Amino acid sequence: MSSKGELYVIAAPSGAGKTSLMRGLLKRCPRLSLSVSDTTRPARAGEVDGEQYHFVSVEEFKAGIEAGDYLEYAEVYGNFYGTRRDRVEALWAAGRDVLLEIDVQGARSVRAQFPGLCSMFILPPSMKILAERLKGRGSDAPEVIERRLGEARAELEACGDFRWMVVNDDFDTALEELTSIVKVWPLRRARQAKRVTRLLDEIPARDTMKD
Ligand code: GDP
Ligand code: ADP
Ligand code: 5GP
Repeated sequence: MSSKGELYVIAAPSGAGKTSLMRGLLKRCPRLSLSVSDTTRPARAGEVDGEQYHFVSVEEFKAGIEAGDYLEYAEVYGNFYGTRRDRVEALWAAGRDVLLEIDVQGARSVRAQFPGLCSMFILPPSMKILAERLKGRGSDAPEVIERRLGEARAELEACGDFRWMVVNDDFDTALEELTSIVKVWPLRRARQAKRVTRLLDEIPARDTMKD
């Protein structure tokens, strides 16, 4: 895949606030677009096909895996989730930077494919608050919440592989911090190297300047 735009990944334990923060981030960063994933999990109340996710059957998902349609996919909390290559390609082709909101397994796979990835991990202030937020969201059955909390340890253990970590205690502070990361990332030296080469090409060679 050719990557013209930037690629950003956000991961976090379920309930840490990544969906809420990501919505704020998309409003504040006009070049950024979310790649909407495929999932086999049932839609929650209020979720619209094509907005939060493309809701597909297990059969459709498996056919997509066979066809190599997924840039990455993973089984998370008992369902399949995956990022379709063509959606990311189309966003880059339209001049956009792409944000993936995916789990830690997916982030690992994408990191291996794109070393220039900007990976961000969101930490909850405490496990107690994480549990309260998951329950307070009111979107999952108690056994689903238990399962998600049970995975939090393994997810937190993976956070050392991410470049940036933001604690979502005060929402506005966390959003400001994420926005700063997204805005500063394209200014890294590796990304600017071609610009410097172009500037140097504009300067005449030393011996032609002597006369
Ligand atoms: P770039 O790959 O051209 O953008 O060069 P960078 O200086 O940005 O990357 C430095 C190193 O960080 C490379 O060896 C990458 O493979 C590595 N790297 C990329 N993403 C991650 C990440 O999420 N976590 C960690 N620990 N390293 C990463
Ligand atoms: P995730 O996408 O990581 O599962 P959500 O964005 O759905 O998490 O957030 C989980 C719940 O916590 C939601 O009800 C959300 O409104 C709430 N929430 C998110 N961030 C904060 C915060 N900083 N303070 C208080 N509540 C928050
Ligand atoms: P939820 O069901 O709460 O929307 O998401 C559950 C988990 O699946 C979250 O950790 C979310 O980041 C992850 N997820 C969502 N889409 C994808 C995807 O396309 N690929 C992978 N690997 N994980 C995803």
